Amino acid sequence: MRDYYSDFGIAPAVADYCAGVLSGLRERFDAVDAVAEENQAKVLLAMQRQRVDAQCFAGSTGYGYNDAGRDTLEQVYADAFHTESALVRPQLVCGTHALAVALSANLLPGDELLSPVGKPYDTLEEVIGIRPSACSLAEYGVSYRQVDLLPDGSFDYDGIRAAVNAKTRLITIQRSKGYAMRPTLSVARIGELIAFCKALKPDVLCMVDNCYGEFVEPLEPSDVGADMIVGSLIKNPGGGLAPIGGYICGTKQCVDRCAYRLSAPGLGQEVGASLDVKTSLYQGFFMAPVTVAGALKGAIFAARLYESLGFRVLPDGSESRHDIIQAVELGSAEKLIAFCEGIQAAAPVDSYVRPVPAPMPGYDADVIMAAGAFVQGSSIELSADGPLRAPYSVYFQGGLTWYHAKLGIMMSLQKLFEKGLVTLPDN
Ligand SMILES: *Cc1c(COP(=O)(O)O)cnc(C)c1O
Repeated sequence: MRDYYSDFGIAPAVADYCAGVLSGLRERFDAVDAVAEENQAKVLLAMQRQRVDAQCFAGSTGYGYNDAGRDTLEQVYADAFHTESALVRPQLVCGTHALAVALSANLLPGDELLSPVGKPYDTLEEVIGIRPSACSLAEYGVSYRQVDLLPDGSFDYDGIRAAVNAKTRLITIQRSKGYAMRPTLSVARIGELIAFCKALKPDVLCMVDNCYGEFVEPLEPSDVGADMIVGSLIKNPGGGLAPIGGYICGTKQCVDRCAYRLSAPGLGQEVGASLDVKTSLYQGFFMAPVTVAGALKGAIFAARLYESLGFRVLPDGSESRHDIIQAVELGSAEKLIAFCEGIQAAAPVDSYVRPVPAPMPGYDADVIMAAGAFVQGSSIELSADGPLRAPYSVYFQGGLTWYHAKLGIMMSLQKLFEKGLVTLPDN
């Protein structure tokens, strides 16, 4: 391996330092592998019970009537996530779209949407109408209320009790911190929150934005009372192979409405050609538990490595994990850029390009992004990004294999090291 490290331009001092950090992570990695093994069994059993066969992979075109492979894939998702029904489609073009469909299908004019976990993911602001937008829920007469987490990250139960009212129809719970500096919610905590909300109002619907959380734990939010869980196939459940798509799993009543909203009232799940993407959706779901485990090991390694060098990391190097995102506060623009250059230089695709900060819609500062992915924009593949403003945090996620994630993180440190931006203590 030494020779390969030198081929990648990784200095012996960097390799040795990383090896020292890694030697302390055996138990953490064993725990990650144990979860992956459970989830692999869960997915495999779902595929067997739903009698997946080679015919499932045949493509369909046009209306997509009688696309049995599409229907079976949806049953596999429903089986694995323990829900009555599932909508898993390439026509759900991304996670935001799947969430927008789930919300707009299950909220009617006069209803109110409540987020009891603070501000939702950026792209949902326009879906909801927090930032005014054409076709937002607000424009259709759906009001929105929000209860922030308490400063220590716990739920503001008094605030939630006060916010739930006769109009409250749907409660949206974001599992991952996304790009906020708050803790990610464990499935157990989501279960407590759902139980509290349903005790206040038994007929309220609870939806979980499950992005980045799938297969990180042995249970999903649908196992602890969520009426719908929603996510993107170019994140965890696509296993890095799905080229497009989103999913909504939940009660038949909720999912039927989502299908009517996605296609047309009366048509629902009966239409929607799957073209030629089904093999990758099946195989990606099959691979996902192990892919997620690799990404998690990368996140844990990055946390421990950068924490040991004195950087603030979230989650920290010993906390339990509930999503695959790792934030590292690098503290300067030079360090943020060097980190991203290292991730880019380790990529299988576009490794020769150098990421540079650039303006991005919706951001008040330039943003730097590193990704060299087989699927454009896929964030289950090794990627890193961050806005160029204090505290110069990088958000790092993914890795189709643990060994690639490891190399990427080593390369990030190498770039910081060779520019004299870190000194390596003895370990
Ligand atoms: C990625 C993400 C989304 C949106 O998904 P896109 O596929 O980027 O539209 C929504 N919520 C969370 C928490 C996410 O991480």
